[in-house]
Amino acid sequence: MYVKGVGPARAAMLEAKGLSTVEDLLAYAPFRYEDRTNVKPLAQLAPGEMATTIAEVASVKSSQLRRRTALFEARFQDGSRVGLVGKWFHGDYLKTVLAPGTRVAVYGKIELDSYTGELTVLHPEFEILSADDEGEAAIHLGRIVPIHEAAGKITPRVMRTLLWRICEGLPALEDPLPESIRRELGLPDYGTAFRELHFPKAGEDLRQLNAFRSGAQFRLIFEEFFWLQCGLQLRRSKVRLQAGIAFGLTERVREQIKAMLPFKPTGAQKRVLGEIARDMAAPHPMNRLLQGDVGSGKTLVAAEAAIIAIENGYQAAVLAPTEILAAQHYLYFKNLFHKLGYVAVLLTGSSSAREKGKLKELVARGLAQIAIGTHALLEEDVAFQRLGLAIIDEQHRFGVMQRLRLMEKGITPDILVMTATPIPRTLSLTLYGDLDVSVIDEMPPGRKPVLTRHVSEDRIEMVWTFVKKEIEQGRQAYVVYPVIEESETAALKAAEKMYRHLKEVVFPDLRIGLLHGRMPADDKEEAMAGFKRGDVRILVSTTVIEVGVDVPNASVMVIEQAERFGLAQLHQLRGRVGRGAAQSHCVLVTGRMNDTSRERIRTMVDSNDGFHIAEMDMKLRGPGEFFGTKQSGLPALRIANLPRDTEILNVARERAVAFLENPGNEREKERVLGYLRDHWQKRYGLARVG
Ligand code: ADP
Ligand code: MG
Repeated sequence: MYVKGVGPARAAMLEAKGLSTVEDLLAYAPFRYEDRTNVKPLAQLAPGEMATTIAEVASVKSSQLRRRTALFEARFQDGSRVGLVGKWFHGDYLKTVLAPGTRVAVYGKIELDSYTGELTVLHPEFEILSADDEGEAAIHLGRIVPIHEAAGKITPRVMRTLLWRICEGLPALEDPLPESIRRELGLPDYGTAFRELHFPKAGEDLRQLNAFRSGAQFRLIFEEFFWLQCGLQLRRSKVRLQAGIAFGLTERVREQIKAMLPFKPTGAQKRVLGEIARDMAAPHPMNRLLQGDVGSGKTLVAAEAAIIAIENGYQAAVLAPTEILAAQHYLYFKNLFHKLGYVAVLLTGSSSAREKGKLKELVARGLAQIAIGTHALLEEDVAFQRLGLAIIDEQHRFGVMQRLRLMEKGITPDILVMTATPIPRTLSLTLYGDLDVSVIDEMPPGRKPVLTRHVSEDRIEMVWTFVKKEIEQGRQAYVVYPVIEESETAALKAAEKMYRHLKEVVFPDLRIGLLHGRMPADDKEEAMAGFKRGDVRILVSTTVIEVGVDVPNASVMVIEQAERFGLAQLHQLRGRVGRGAAQSHCVLVTGRMNDTSRERIRTMVDSNDGFHIAEMDMKLRGPGEFFGTKQSGLPALRIANLPRDTEILNVARERAVAFLENPGNEREKERVLGYLRDHWQKRYGLARVG
């Protein structure tokens, strides 16, 4: 479709926003709507109302208020005796925009300046009207207008015009949604939905529009979730039908598990192991997500599952996102499995080529029962003799594709995905709709909740006094610096500086360790081992310890520049303490904060509940950033938005399940399958269906 007004320059700007087709533009939903039906001449404006008025700039003036605040004022007139003054703080840039004589539509809250007796409007929305607009004035005025995000130099106003033309020229579209569903939910058809998404019909409720709950918006949000859920359901049922390994749960398996267990499993661990064992015994591949807060004992359950596989003559693999975590898991599994006579190997990027070669040989010949590693495990030349169970830790750092890659290393191995980042239940439906979920909702006995405090950085000496007291009682402490991608070097410098300061000035007689991502692997291991043994009393580090370090004697976590960490990361870090019987503490040291960082710190001080924290995190950051869309395999939602649209997600899920399970609609189902095949892969970047 040709769109008038889109030349190469504009096409490039649209492209940069990911808008390359008419379909993309149609799905480019306005982020809010403005009611410009209430267009009044100046003489009819009343103080207190939201109104749109059309007038001409009569004069402008800018004045200096305080040192750096300039006030820009424009006086509007429309030929009547009444004037209106628009005011903008820091508005000097408007000088060139609102020259006298310019005709504008002004929208905002009208107020009466009691001092001058004039009507004023503070920071109004405005749009310049030009003569050649006349034909299109109906788009911008006298109706509810959509406000789209600008794209490059394409202003919301130009965007509106483009979308108007597209909607006007829209041919009759075949509706991809099954008719039965449209009828049951009373949804508008496809074309109407897009038209009314951009240009709501007269009489539509503005509040409802801005809450994204008009009929058109509901339909499009629902539809997006519906396809996603259908795809996930289909994939899930397909996997269920596949032949997999039926592991035997023999007496010997039970005995081996008992022999391995260093302590009595909690009730939650037992229940979850039961769910996993049932899946493993079934003749279909397991696809299960094991969710549980930091320190809830997921790894122990994973080890039990590994025993089931190994005792049946298969191998197990453990995939971890970082070398530190892989090394940690390796030590953990090696310890547990030592008494059972299993051989464990560790494969990471930093092992030498020769070493790697030897380890791969062990795995390929089936001489190692369990292989633990980072991405190195996924390399093509890593072959298992008989992979039966793949365990993936910290799934949110791996995409769906990696999950599949690991799966391909066995015939149809069982998959257990572990995540320590509690995923809000609703979001896990989108992300893991194709997985069954087990939750460990109970901490190992004797754990005391970590006490969290907030301290401003100018009182850091107080923190060191406190740390000293804890260390005198035999405990250990972490001091952590944030690494934000672009500032890794800065974080390293800060950590190194603090390391020297603590070592030379504050705690001259203690052993202090330093750990960061750029150290050679051996030094890293040595620093961790020293801390684990307890000779190193304080470990200063960048966020490399975020996941996986397990030192029960450490009772203090000091997080420097805590305002720069995300909530998920703060919670993960805090989970490094509180693993022993002693009361543990987390100290959040901050510099200057903005509103969001203040909210994050408050959440941390108030709550130890990973689920609550995850929900807050998602609210504060939005789900895309929450997971890092790229690496998470989180489908790119276009019109729908989580958490805003959670309840629509639930409706869509229910409908998708019911639709697919209903035996009486084969024709519709076929159409849905065809549509998914054509659109699913491209839109959501997920694996094949059907
Ligand atoms: P997660 O992987 O969920 O963060 P881990 O499996 O690393 O948690 O367990 C955290 C700590 O709790 C470890 O030191 C582990 O040995 C210990 N632990 C796990 N399960 C139990 C249990 N049932 N009783 C006592 N301690 C446990
Ligand atoms: Mg863990």
